[in-house]
Amino acid sequence: MEVRQTVEIRVRGTVQGVGFRPTVWRLACDEGLVGEVLNDGFGVLIRTTGNSGAISQFLTRLHTEAPPLSQIEDVETQVLNLLDFEDFRIAESVGGENCTRVTPDAAICAACRAEVLDPKERRFGYPFANCTHCGPRFSIVREVPYDRVNTTMVDFPMCPACNSEYLQPADRRFHAQPIACPTCGPSIWMELTDTSAPSVNSRASAALDSAIELLKSGAVVAIRGLGGFHLACDATNAEAVQRLRQRKHRYGKPFALMARDLDTIRRYCNLSGAEADLLQSPEAPIVLLPADGPEKLPEGIAPGLNTVGFMLPYTPLHLLITQQIDGPLVMTSGNISDEPQVTSLDTARTGLRGIADAMLMHDREIANRIDDSVVRIVAGKPSLIRRARGYAPSAVPLPPGFEGAPDLLAFGGELKATFCVLKDGAAILSQHQGDLEEMSTFEDYQKNLHLYSKIYDHRPRLLVADMHPEYLSAKLAKQQAESEKLPLLEVQHHYAHIASCMVENGVALDAPPVLGIAIDGLGFGDDGTIWGGEFLITDYRSCRRLATFKPVAMVGGVQAIREPWRNTYAHLVAALGWNQFAEKFSELELYRYLIAKPLPTINRMMETGLNVPLASSCGRLFDAVAAALGLCADRAIFEGQGAMELEALAEPWRPSVAEPAYPFTITEQASSGLLYLESSPMWLALLEDLSRRTSVARMSARFHYGLARAIRDMVARIRGTSAGRSLNQVALSGGCFQNRLLLEEVVRLLEADGLSCLLHAKVPPNDGGLALGQAAIAAARHIERSNPADLPSSASIN
Ligand SMILES: [Zn+2]
Ligand SMILES: [Zn+2]
Repeated sequence: MEVRQTVEIRVRGTVQGVGFRPTVWRLACDEGLVGEVLNDGFGVLIRTTGNSGAISQFLTRLHTEAPPLSQIEDVETQVLNLLDFEDFRIAESVGGENCTRVTPDAAICAACRAEVLDPKERRFGYPFANCTHCGPRFSIVREVPYDRVNTTMVDFPMCPACNSEYLQPADRRFHAQPIACPTCGPSIWMELTDTSAPSVNSRASAALDSAIELLKSGAVVAIRGLGGFHLACDATNAEAVQRLRQRKHRYGKPFALMARDLDTIRRYCNLSGAEADLLQSPEAPIVLLPADGPEKLPEGIAPGLNTVGFMLPYTPLHLLITQQIDGPLVMTSGNISDEPQVTSLDTARTGLRGIADAMLMHDREIANRIDDSVVRIVAGKPSLIRRARGYAPSAVPLPPGFEGAPDLLAFGGELKATFCVLKDGAAILSQHQGDLEEMSTFEDYQKNLHLYSKIYDHRPRLLVADMHPEYLSAKLAKQQAESEKLPLLEVQHHYAHIASCMVENGVALDAPPVLGIAIDGLGFGDDGTIWGGEFLITDYRSCRRLATFKPVAMVGGVQAIREPWRNTYAHLVAALGWNQFAEKFSELELYRYLIAKPLPTINRMMETGLNVPLASSCGRLFDAVAAALGLCADRAIFEGQGAMELEALAEPWRPSVAEPAYPFTITEQASSGLLYLESSPMWLALLEDLSRRTSVARMSARFHYGLARAIRDMVARIRGTSAGRSLNQVALSGGCFQNRLLLEEVVRLLEADGLSCLLHAKVPPNDGGLALGQAAIAAARHIERSNPADLPSSASIN
């Protein structure tokens, strides 16, 4: 029987600044309900009176018809005493809005897209159209609450037409803070860089036309986008691509592409359903795709790789450009060598002058630099490699048990750095910042730390950093801890990797430990050596190292990353000794190659141990194998280049009975009981393959599958020990798990052994995820002991 009643509905999640209240208003009116809806410090609060049937219908529709950018985490309803309302209205916000939920930027929605392409609409051809379902958010925020005056749209007072849309609850632009139109909003213009006095073309359509003409003719055009500048050129024009590489001094690293639609991408890549969905999602990331379509791109797009990164146009400006161009465009970040992406007009004019032939400018300031995100489908699901536009700064939900987490700040790592703000129980992982070794990136990182503290009004009670004494982020954390008299916790690198994977998989604070496998390039270990191939029993409060890759010398420290042959040499010496190698394999090209290197110097260094740290690094093993097979042996342009090329080659092969995966062995350290994964037998088999002139692709495949099997065998061995007996969950993290072939095979093998695997999805497996793990470990210790002053200063591993 229908009963007239009043209920209070509390909605939590990302529900502010995404058009939630107008949706509530529309659905309530539809269902004949009266009442009110408002934003408060916890989310959205609804009080409504009506027939019970209508209310339950309303609640169902709230989920199914929620606005696209909202994320409902929780809905609670409570019956109140009957209240009388005249109508349904949107009421004033109460008690401040929830400032921990700043929405990420979102790709242009279907409705705005249609408008921009429709000559009858007033926003036809307008590059800054947006609505509550799409457009700039985080990139324009200077402060909270998220109101126009606190964004870079403050420079553009609304015209009467926009204002009436803004005030009309039934309008798609109700309370859309960046609302704009050709009358009142930002505009574009073109500047040419090849004359001493830049010529300015200020008519929007003329500026667009000239940019498109230039792109078609093979020119490089700098385009000011949403979170920074891009450098664009015709991706099908090999000369233009080469010119861009030379001017940008960017050799080797792949270029991202933008194409107008899925059909254009399908000419170059066979898309899966999951990949197509990801490309068209509001996050609109760069998706790494197999380059296996009917048409081929110039080699200069992604040298040595079998994948290519594509994205769809995600702003009206990009849409208007790509609409007029048949093939894909290179759309690489507009920066000077390794510096951060340029955001300001002046830096572009000076910095990009020698690179771009022309610049397509606009006058909406970029408050937060934000790069394009990079995602790959792994094991059927999206896996983030670079987490930035579209994803940051959405909060990563903390697992059960973390409700009492203190407000803290985790500084992350050094490469692919991010930081993490923990506030009011929400973990806000910053967008990708880049490699802090680059001075201007480090400056930008500090600027962003400051910006986040302002945006989130964040006053941490505790700071967290990596244990590495030389990481700039850790040094900065130390300084800040001293100057602000805050406790500092130092967390071991690989422990933080595993914890980040646990958080994103919702592993509860008091859940039993998991077996963490962290494989990457380098991280500072507890014992002062370098780690990077670790098997750890982990919960949020403790971590124990059970096994590792057998440490091998890194000759010359970081030089071993830049010159991969050094790793090959060190691995061969460790595996079978130089004399034995020289005796058995002197007919190999590899022998002739290595003997020409300054080996006496290298040997002296190895004897004295000076600048030759020991590293149990999976990344260096990949480098060593890649260089042995002739990939990037002399020089790697970026860390992991050899590993990426190795993976690309291995793709088509599967080991057979005749050509099994390469063998590894497991040994036990008598003194410590630590288990070592040893690669000596793998090296012997690989050298014999080299003697037989086996194809590089086959050898690469045999290495990948061998390593996957070795990891499985190590897990089985650990589970045979008393410490490992009860483990049935394995968390996989670290940059080497960006290797899809390796990850998928490891997962397949572990699952076949009855284990469940925790994988990264929304948080990168690389160092971009460290800060989240650091934050969780620090929070867990705080929850255990209520007074942070009692905390130990390091989360080390025993
Ligand atoms: Zn829209
Ligand atoms: Zn307007």
